[in-house]
Amino acid sequence: MTDERDPGKTLEDWKAEMQAERETQIAGPNPDEDHRIEGVVQSSYRVYFTYEPEADALERDRREQVDDFGDPELLACVCGVRGVS
Ligand SMILES: [Zn+2]
Repeated sequence: MTDERDPGKTLEDWKAEMQAERETQIAGPNPDEDHRIEGVVQSSYRVYFTYEPEADALERDRREQVDDFGDPELLACVCGVRGVS
């Protein structure tokens, strides 16, 4: 392996690297700055429908959360750390 840019490296690889770098920056904040960190987390729901014959349509009945919140993806901080997305 050399240090030359790998032509097989995809955009996704670069994005993943930048994402990891950003998360490191956000997770290790400079103590002299003000920080307010923003992140997102996804959760899945199972959604139930009932069939309404008169309207010939599905009605959303209820939903159940399928999983617990995972680890949030850290996006940005007011101190200037910004995401690429
Ligand atoms: Zn910060």
